Amino acid sequence: MPPPATPPRPPAEPVRQATAGWQRELADAVRDPGELCRLLAIDLPLADEARRSAAGFPLLVPRAFVARMRKGDRHDPLLLQVLPVAAERQVAAGFSADPLAEAAALAAPGLVQKYAGRALVLATGACAINCRYCFRREFPYAESGATRAGVEAAVDAVAADPTIQEVILSGGDPLLLDDERLGRLVERIEAIPHVRRLRIHSRLPIVLPTRVTESLTAILAATRLNTVMVVHANHPAELDAAVAAALARLAAARVILLNQAVLLAGVNDSVAVLATLSERLVEIGVLPYYLHLLDRVQGTAHFEVSEDAAKCLHEALRARLPGYAVPRLAREVPGEPAKVWIM
Ligand SMILES: *Cc1c(COP(=O)(O)O)cnc(C)c1O
Ligand code: SF4
Repeated sequence: MPPPATPPRPPAEPVRQATAGWQRELADAVRDPGELCRLLAIDLPLADEARRSAAGFPLLVPRAFVARMRKGDRHDPLLLQVLPVAAERQVAAGFSADPLAEAAALAAPGLVQKYAGRALVLATGACAINCRYCFRREFPYAESGATRAGVEAAVDAVAADPTIQEVILSGGDPLLLDDERLGRLVERIEAIPHVRRLRIHSRLPIVLPTRVTESLTAILAATRLNTVMVVHANHPAELDAAVAAALARLAAARVILLNQAVLLAGVNDSVAVLATLSERLVEIGVLPYYLHLLDRVQGTAHFEVSEDAAKCLHEALRARLPGYAVPRLAREVPGEPAKVWIM
């Protein structure tokens, strides 16, 4: 139930953190393929291949995420998500730089509006991790308004459009904004009377769980907005005790928790992995929301799972799990009024 009126807010405390622990961890993230291979005790030639293949979208992975990878296994499902490989350099038919036509859907600088009632703010172009399958590898954030000025313009556009009931903070990863900036942004959004819901799409609670600070949960607990966070985990091995604790802190702030995953060949294209992912998510208080078919971005063809294979996997999941633990199988199709539910 939404609160009838703006509840009393606690006195605004200055949320100051010179450099929070998570920011230091981020600065210390692994960027050198050689170092990653040494940490994981895998063959160094893979590092040379990674250096040659990273062009324009370098290796970036927080140590907290590396710590969940299996040593000595070059096919580790977490490693496969971050290590550049030669296959990325192959040009594949049907894979383009902007398959979702995001550039055309910019309603204002920094605002993507495709679906009724919801508008997506590009809070920043940056992420804490570079996932090899991501559309971000090609997206021109600097030209799309994912800047301070762009975010201001996006909030103004939301204020001017009374049909927008839900603001989605996305990016890049919106939780890369520090708590002070994020707090100011949430204040500006909640001052818009027609906005009822705030949704945050972030992979940070998974890849860098220390990002879920006390000041972040204080901001989310205090807002009048109904708050949803959609996290992004693709494999059960991503969900360790620190992640579970971070998600519990968010749940205590009355944030509704959902997960979206991308179906990725070699990473999670098996019934056993997907079922374990769903079960583990439910165990830690997160409902599976979407299982996305890959966006066909150049350099990601080696991750693709065919629609037929995806449907088979999904059917097998439905035969095994309670309905609430089965994510919707979806794909984004430019021009459609919603994400297309395949099953
Ligand atoms: C995915 C997306 C949304 C949210 O869609 P839901 O089906 O509500 O999760 C909203 N706006 C844009 C631009 C999107 O890409
Ligand atoms: S936007 Fe999400 S999937 Fe893409 S690189 Fe960032 S964290 Fe990974």
